[in-house]
Amino acid sequence: MNLFDRIEQYATEQVVIGADPASGLRSIIVIDDSTLGPALGGVRMWPYADEDQAVADGLRLAQAMTLKAAAAGLNLGGGASLIIADPAHDKSEALLRAHGRYIATLGGRFIPVNDVGTTQADIEVIGCETAPVCDRGDPSPYTALGVLESIRAGLRATHGSGDLAGVKVAIQGTGNVGSHLVRLLRAESAETIVADLVAERAHEVADRYGAKVVPAGEILSSDCDVLAPCALGEVVTEKMLPRLRCRVIAGGANNVLAAPALAGALARDGIRYVPDFLASAGGLIYLEEQLLGHDDQRAMARVRRVGNTVAEVFERAGREEITTVEAAMALALARLAARRSHPPYLGCGLRGMGRSLKESIRM
Ligand code: NAD
Repeated sequence: MNLFDRIEQYATEQVVIGADPASGLRSIIVIDDSTLGPALGGVRMWPYADEDQAVADGLRLAQAMTLKAAAAGLNLGGGASLIIADPAHDKSEALLRAHGRYIATLGGRFIPVNDVGTTQADIEVIGCETAPVCDRGDPSPYTALGVLESIRAGLRATHGSGDLAGVKVAIQGTGNVGSHLVRLLRAESAETIVADLVAERAHEVADRYGAKVVPAGEILSSDCDVLAPCALGEVVTEKMLPRLRCRVIAGGANNVLAAPALAGALARDGIRYVPDFLASAGGLIYLEEQLLGHDDQRAMARVRRVGNTVAEVFERAGREEITTVEAAMALALARLAARRSHPPYLGCGLRGMGRSLKESIRM
């Protein structure tokens, strides 16, 4: 598919192509939608085979950020940026700063944060050329807290109580988010089963908090109340469905379903699915709080309310006989539509130019 067809398919607001032969920069910045505020998005550095792959990834990632921010009630838009390069060999200060200069041309409408292939230190370098940037604090504990509250909401819907004591939770991936989730679950006396492709990581978390370790190939079909995918996306596939033995799925990973239609199949099998863009929103809520200069306690209180949004989505899905993914999308799209009804066309992204960051996030 050509570039313009792709952009039309996603109804993307703006795509910026960055090219700087001196540093070797080849990058793409996508603002999917800035209706609700400046677009926050990762800086992903990856050796994509070609530009087409990179553009497709960027459009998809940016759209997911729009939905996540809208459903969580944030005043942020959705964006993404990609540097086509190998982080192990190609990363340099000149390359990062060149990318930062392209971001600066957007006048604060794109706020970068680290993603696959980049670190907070890299964002600090980008921050020498543009502002604002998200280069402080680790969102993972907040992402894990949002997952915990999503699990609680799922249990309320299936078991009638959000009490976690004795509930069996299987966690796939014990990296940043997974390890914090195990800590939070154990503090509420839940039983945890963990697995990681890097087995030492799973054992280290199990030793620290008390958990059962199983091989990575067995975690998805573990006998449990809740499955929490905290590794990569597309873990729930058509083939995997008959092997699932959980009642609730809620995790930190993005794009948990291989296809949106699988949400219907899960419901038919009696499994409550918390849409990933709701369950994993805690980190983004924390980043917005940071940008506004608020303290961590306030961020934590807001992240705890993710459970209320999940309950609202379950209720709507039941009432309208739609899937939880459809209900969560409807919530996000309604918020965008309500804000879009204020002219001009590009929403507060452009209206926000010339205002302070706080003013444009609070609008
Ligand atoms: P991470 O890289 O720290 O941890 C992921 C872990 O999963 C690694 O230890 C990896 O070895 C393991 N893993 C990969 N494939 C696996 C498999 N098939 N089976 C078992 N283990 C496997 O990443 P993270 O920061 O913890 O993020 C986890 C997921 O959550 C990612 O999909 C990320 O995009 C998403 N997410 C993270 C945040 C955040 O705040 N870090 C926010 C939103 C979404």
